[in-house]
Amino acid sequence: MTSTNPAVPAPRHAAVAATDPEIAALIGAEERLQADTLRMIASENYVSQAVLEATGTVLQNKYSEGYPGRRYYEGQQNIDPVEELARQRAKELFGVDHANVQPYSGSPANLAVYLAFLQPGDTVMGMSLPMGGHLTHGWGVSATGTWFRGVGYGVRRETGRVDLDEVRDLALRERPKLIFCGGTAVPRTIDFAGFAEIAREVGAVLVADVAHIAGLIAGGAHPSPVPHADVVSTTTHKTLRGPRGAMLMCREEHAKAIDRAVFPGLQGGPHNHTTAAIAVALKEAATEDFRAYAHQVVANARALGEQLAARGFDLVSGGTDNHLLLIDLTSKEIGGKPVAQALDRAGIVVNYNSVPFDQRKPFDPSGLRLGTPALTSRGLPAERMATVAEWIDRVVTAARTGDEDTVVKVRAEVAELMTEYPAPGLPV
Ligand SMILES: *Cc1c(COP(=O)(O)O)cnc(C)c1O
Repeated sequence: MTSTNPAVPAPRHAAVAATDPEIAALIGAEERLQADTLRMIASENYVSQAVLEATGTVLQNKYSEGYPGRRYYEGQQNIDPVEELARQRAKELFGVDHANVQPYSGSPANLAVYLAFLQPGDTVMGMSLPMGGHLTHGWGVSATGTWFRGVGYGVRRETGRVDLDEVRDLALRERPKLIFCGGTAVPRTIDFAGFAEIAREVGAVLVADVAHIAGLIAGGAHPSPVPHADVVSTTTHKTLRGPRGAMLMCREEHAKAIDRAVFPGLQGGPHNHTTAAIAVALKEAATEDFRAYAHQVVANARALGEQLAARGFDLVSGGTDNHLLLIDLTSKEIGGKPVAQALDRAGIVVNYNSVPFDQRKPFDPSGLRLGTPALTSRGLPAERMATVAEWIDRVVTAARTGDEDTVVKVRAEVAELMTEYPAPGLPV
């Protein structure tokens, strides 16, 4: 019997629980996990209750192949305005001529860019995966590296930063048709204007893949790739704090090519519930609150970097300009994987990561990647980063010495602190 007393809240996910208790239990367990851990995976976040609600709506029942006003199915009275709002808000927020909000996720969005501009076998240049790039920037195991000829640039060994003179030399030698800038483990500001100059010089299309930093750009905490890049590709679920999805933005001259590549080139019906949630997230991202959030993400990352450096941790490039830190654990005499696993047991969720010029294997690399987007969404201030750094320091030592008691102690301290900072969209 469900209670009719309005003081008693309805059980969360009651219909799922009635139909499928196993899945309901797992959703509930994940809610608890996301509530009482310190989530520091740089690509993750917490969406608002509004974004969460939009994703769980009947919009998902609708087929809408095509674009607003040009659909292949009837009954688009409500869907067209949803997609129009999402497109319009993206254009205003990022200051672009055109936005396509239909890509299912970041990887298919990038594949659509290849489809729009390249023929199989053509050359694409991107930051190589072990240097901080993304699989879809032409890396070998990805379709983009098997159907196209991938050429990778890196960072300088001494600085941990991209050297545009090296990128230019490589581009002049390899003559790519497409150049990607941006990546997944890049702690420093991306020089979009510098990349654009190189792309112009070699006649390449420049794609700024800002998946990680879209929210920082929207909030004015990282320079914008507009108008330097020909195409801007982004996921919507990282710092932008929207649903899992993606957008491609470009100048008017490329609008047709991009739209055709997404549909019918690569995809069928758009995920309308996701489109609605993207629209909601973009509305949120245009607020003063979100600007403050974006700046706080960076302030927290910087504070954490300083606290870690003070405890003897080596940071790739010496620190950060954005939301993420890459720690090289070589001097701590332990690999990234055992530390990531110990941190997970301690309630601090991160990923192990290759560092530039890593001496260890990709599945057992030397680094850890840490990000502040999710913990900032919960309201942790910069002053808390000393606590976080101290936990990380204790767990790294504990992982090296096999001191599981400390791991258990930190786990309790983390859970305790997180109760002070309720997460958006989660039960308290
Ligand atoms: C996350 C990411 C992607 C891919 O996004 P998915 O939604 O996981 O497919 C692409 N490029 C960059 C730079 C990313 O960080």
